[in-house]
Amino acid sequence: MASHKENEAWKEADLAEDRSFRPTRAPGSRRKAPFYKVLQGMPIAVDAFRYGTIPGVTAYFLTHAHSDHYTNLASNWKSGPIYCSADTANLIIHMLSVDSKWVHPLPMDVPTIVPDSGGVTVTLIEANHCPGSCLFLFEGPQTVHAGDSAFKSPFVGSGKAFRYLHCGDFRASPQHVMHPAVKGKQIDHVYLDTTYLDPKYTFPPQPLVISACAELAKRIVSGERVGAPDTNGKRNSTMDAWVIPSERADETVIKQPKDRMLVVVGTYSIGKERIVKAIAQALKTKIYCDAHKTAILRCQSDPELHALLTKDPCEACVHVVPLSMIVSDKLKAYVQRFNGIYSRAVGFRPTGWTYTPPSGSDLSPPISSIISRGQSRSFTHADLKPMQKSTFAVQMYGVPYSEHSSFFELTCFAMSCDWVKMIATVNVGNERSRMKMAKWVERWEIDKKRCKEAMVKPRAADYW
Ligand SMILES: [Zn+2]
Repeated sequence: MASHKENEAWKEADLAEDRSFRPTRAPGSRRKAPFYKVLQGMPIAVDAFRYGTIPGVTAYFLTHAHSDHYTNLASNWKSGPIYCSADTANLIIHMLSVDSKWVHPLPMDVPTIVPDSGGVTVTLIEANHCPGSCLFLFEGPQTVHAGDSAFKSPFVGSGKAFRYLHCGDFRASPQHVMHPAVKGKQIDHVYLDTTYLDPKYTFPPQPLVISACAELAKRIVSGERVGAPDTNGKRNSTMDAWVIPSERADETVIKQPKDRMLVVVGTYSIGKERIVKAIAQALKTKIYCDAHKTAILRCQSDPELHALLTKDPCEACVHVVPLSMIVSDKLKAYVQRFNGIYSRAVGFRPTGWTYTPPSGSDLSPPISSIISRGQSRSFTHADLKPMQKSTFAVQMYGVPYSEHSSFFELTCFAMSCDWVKMIATVNVGNERSRMKMAKWVERWEIDKKRCKEAMVKPRAADYW
């Protein structure tokens, strides 16, 4: 689509996404799908359940089981077959009671023909987001003008093969660009998860944050003074600032069995399991959560996680609770429920919004500095700071953890694969935000042409 046409298509999408729209019971009354929800020239919609039966669409794909991606999907779904990963299939059947006759789990990593699609194949690639999440790589000819958009592709019926990569929600990693379905292939459209396409989002690599949480939990539970004197002989002020002196326990007290520490991790419905698992493994303990959450975790094909689960809250030193529970009064009340078993609690509150960039940060740096700065970032348990209102009995830590790509990771991803066009799928609701994102996409494009490296050198197999 030429840029003038693209602007027109976005205006049309704005109208389609009108928040005041309420479908009526009249036949044909439905919200219209914006152009980026239906693949150009293919009868395929992705994460587009809120639009009901979309004209010309024969295959409805779901990237993962987060509510903003399956809006409107329920037990009464009958608009067509739903394709997704095996874990997502289990989750939507369990959580939404979608009739399993519509749900078609697809294998990961191997190209699979999409029925009634005019010869399109799809490859599912692990998204590094929540359990079951995947990227879809679609390959095939344009055969149909599907969807509600007035803009028609001139390539329909041309026989030319197209390649589209739909990222759903993802945390970009070197594994994505090294995947055999992506590496060395030119991708016509990348539908990009642009949640954090803004240089102010510079949280540290996920694997480092996971190990930092596990290490901190281990140190606190073993009674180690986290605020021990540093090498200069000065006490680390991090913990001293909030530990009320009279409440400080002696090491002898910490070792008493009644002074057991409970680790509580806040999560949404699905996602962040990796932190929970890492902490439980580091503490060599089990994981407890309520029956509702347990059933959701059991939908996921993760035998290692299943083996750690227990129904007995007293047997597990790691509990999983809703994220909103990780506030001082609620956490205090929670640990009091287990009075006599646990006397103290440490709460982890993982959220992508925790990180605040230092004031005076350059918010429009050159691509090369974005990459070099991002690659110099480290993160250890010492970087986790107790939140306000933490006390000796109830400590809380905000964790800069995200299952979406940071701005740096989006940049590495864009610089490391061969794409023709990026289509933003998040924060597209207003023109100003779209313009800001388009500026970065343009800069990636220019720098990519200039740069001779095929990919940004990864620091590890799973992060840049
Ligand atoms: Zn998501």
